[in-house]
Amino acid sequence: MNPDHAVRGVAVFILLSSVIRSLLAWQSVGKGKQPAVSARNLASAILKAVGGLLASLAIWLGLPIFLGSGIHESAAWLAMAAAASSILDFIASLLWRRPAKVERTLPLVAAAAILILGSGALGFVLHLRSTPGGIDPIVCAHPPVLGRWRVATGGRTALTNHHHAQPPQQDYAVDLVIDGPPDASFGQIVHAPVDGEVTIAEGKRSAGDGPAEGNLIVIQTASGSDIWLAHLKEDSVKVARGDKVRAGAPLAAVGDTGSANSPHLHIHCEWNGRPVPIMLGPGLPFAVRGDILGLQAK
Ligand SMILES: [Zn+2]
Repeated sequence: MNPDHAVRGVAVFILLSSVIRSLLAWQSVGKGKQPAVSARNLASAILKAVGGLLASLAIWLGLPIFLGSGIHESAAWLAMAAAASSILDFIASLLWRRPAKVERTLPLVAAAAILILGSGALGFVLHLRSTPGGIDPIVCAHPPVLGRWRVATGGRTALTNHHHAQPPQQDYAVDLVIDGPPDASFGQIVHAPVDGEVTIAEGKRSAGDGPAEGNLIVIQTASGSDIWLAHLKEDSVKVARGDKVRAGAPLAAVGDTGSANSPHLHIHCEWNGRPVPIMLGPGLPFAVRGDILGLQAK
């Protein structure tokens, strides 16, 4: 099933069901005795509503990480439906009284559990999206590719970044594919992300030949960080070892050499064998799987 449709279906269901509950609550007003809202029920309603709002934020920020980048708009729908449902439920739980004085608010423990789950989910998603500490990130002065690109894999954990199965210096590597048909990345120009010196330039390997990185350019910055650009198209590499390059200079083309199953650009940065987080352009956040990046030259 198309995940977009499934997510939007869930959003509509959540919204409709909370609207119906609210209407029923409204209808019940004035029937029977209306006990005053007890402090306990108010606390329960507040905990549940805040937990729901935090969970909505987690849905908005987290769903594209797990369901893929096509899902951004649907994730926003679902998050808005869940947030609206939390607010409607909050109002309803203040109104809903049965004649028999059976109050339909959640037990305090269950409401607290919703708050803990909502804040836990949001904390987890924010952790997945956060920039790893330890070594200062390299910020590309110029994006390595230009246009709308999707992060096929990236982030700080193995949950979002398959490079964690590789040597540790690749822990924060990013694989980029153009936001379009699968093969549209092939042949796109790869630009130097930083000023530096080319220390490795290999461009003669054919697809399926040689080591996992395929055709490769490594640029060393003045601070001694090495930026790796891998899987480059055969015969597209325009620089040689020892060349000094300026950020933005065209270097090669995106390809599918080495272990690449389909055309994409692999980029990572390492310093003394340690992984360095890389920001793909000035002002861009740390890229995580599912992100869509509008990469523009400054
Ligand atoms: Zn890769």
